[in-house]
Amino acid sequence: MADDNTTEMGATEFIKQLKKTFESLPYEIPIFLFTKQNADDIFSTSSRQMIRAFRELTDKIPFREYSLDSEEARKWNVNRAPTLLIAPEKYNIRWLGAPMGEEGRTLLETILLVGMGRSNLNEQAVKVLKKIDSPRQIRVFVSPSCPYCPQEAVNAVKTAIELPEFVSVELVDIQCNPDLAEKYSAQSVPQAYANDILIGRGARSEELFSLSLQKLEPATLFIPDNDAELVETDLLIVGGGPAGLSAGIYAQRSGLNAVVVEKGALGGQVATTPVVENYPGFTQVGGKTLVDIMVSHALEYVPIFQGEEVISIEKGSPMIIKTSRRIFHAKSVLIATGAQHRLLNTPGEKRLSGSGVSYCATCDGPLFSNKSVIIVGGGNSAVTEALHLKNMGVNVTLVHRRDALRAQEYLEKIFKDSGIAVMWNTEVKEIRGNKKVESVLLENNKTGKIQELAIDGVFVSIGYEPSVSVAEKIGVALTDDGYIRHDGNHRTNVPGIYSAGDVEGGYKQIVTATGQGAAAALAIFEDMIHPYWLETEKTV
Ligand code: NAP
Repeated sequence: MADDNTTEMGATEFIKQLKKTFESLPYEIPIFLFTKQNADDIFSTSSRQMIRAFRELTDKIPFREYSLDSEEARKWNVNRAPTLLIAPEKYNIRWLGAPMGEEGRTLLETILLVGMGRSNLNEQAVKVLKKIDSPRQIRVFVSPSCPYCPQEAVNAVKTAIELPEFVSVELVDIQCNPDLAEKYSAQSVPQAYANDILIGRGARSEELFSLSLQKLEPATLFIPDNDAELVETDLLIVGGGPAGLSAGIYAQRSGLNAVVVEKGALGGQVATTPVVENYPGFTQVGGKTLVDIMVSHALEYVPIFQGEEVISIEKGSPMIIKTSRRIFHAKSVLIATGAQHRLLNTPGEKRLSGSGVSYCATCDGPLFSNKSVIIVGGGNSAVTEALHLKNMGVNVTLVHRRDALRAQEYLEKIFKDSGIAVMWNTEVKEIRGNKKVESVLLENNKTGKIQELAIDGVFVSIGYEPSVSVAEKIGVALTDDGYIRHDGNHRTNVPGIYSAGDVEGGYKQIVTATGQGAAAALAIFEDMIHPYWLETEKTV
């Protein structure tokens, strides 16, 4: 443990270094403090003391104190005390409260960055911020005793320095401004809002903060942009669901260069599954959380190209894969495109999709809290989602075309115990409504009786169709049920083209999909060493 002398020497050295750093700053850092007249409350006093301490180290911090009812307060639109403005002529950075405790670190870093006149954000974060073209008013709730707060607060400050024309930042000390914390329900810190939308809780990386700010939503994953027009790889994996991600990890660990290309959201169906209870290692985990964990794991190994659609695959050596953004040259391709929602194909479904017709209870359920909806289907998904809707306070009725469910016994029991109403032997004949769903026409397929049921929403959960359009384009053979036909080792009839996951049919579980992805990657690795198509003619 350090004794008092060493601590003192350390502090002296730190102050010496700090003085030197201040000397090297090219810009002044004017600070305005707004207080109530004759204010000697703890927050105003601490703010003054903190600024005074920095001013003792440098003459680059011009300081002004104004009263809250001054002309300057009106000019800068300040109506709380204490409020600190940092270099207000240049940036839009303000502090509501006092930079005490841990927040002293935030103030020091802010002063240094403003003095340097640059954000110091990393390249990826800057790239994301460049996409912002409209104002963002950030509010970060912090507290002096929170060791995680400076990271998130400094992220916000950096974005305000990087994009002064669009970004303004207000750091809100919740101890000094409990009314604001209450208004925003900020019951944990740090918590960041932009344009009054929650964009994140907890301390995050610069990239994630910037992405959340750009998208105005709490981003949980950051996938680096890639500008390359041509990417050469051993294996191109189409699809970023459990099968594709697992294949990416296994391929790369086997020594293959692999990439994952995903046109939509990563994680496939899992991302919209409310709760997963049968993936080993997790007693209960939200689908999106599980996806985030899988994607973060995969990113440790394999580049992911998200938001890119595979347009064409040209056979050859190498295969030439054209996506919506670039060209890939690959020695082999793994199709792990999963499946897409099956449609009811009833009148009104397409027209009212997004206006009361939904295929994702996790995403849209909260919009129907205290409203009445039906969920159509009788499998594991319909049952899981019905339970989820009920938990969200939705008045849900399950409509099933048979007189029995085909869900797992365990789920069925929970479902029965939940008391959710069921309409058996019932089919949806039409979804009605002008601008949004207002009712459904239901037919009892045993009695032929038709009834119109007033309803606010229809959740369709009737299974999935395999996504085989990429496979079909290159002549991959399908089974009679429309899934990709393969030889048991994930090889399709087209040499160099493989399949894994739900697109192959079978059990369609997350754990089977990840297993198939891994097995396919290992098979591909072996085939690269011993290309089976050069040795024997195979039929599958
Ligand atoms: P599914 O198991 O294929 O069940 C689809 C349900 O929708 C069936 O009850 C089916 O009725 C009904 N249906 C199909 N077409 C219909 C139509 N045109 N009109 C009305 N009803 C229709 O699909 P899923 O529940 O979405 O599950 C997909 C896969 O994911 C399955 O393999 C499932 O086991 C798996 N999954 C597993 C879990 C879990 O393990 N906890 C959770 C979710 C999903 P019929 O019974 O009459 O055919």
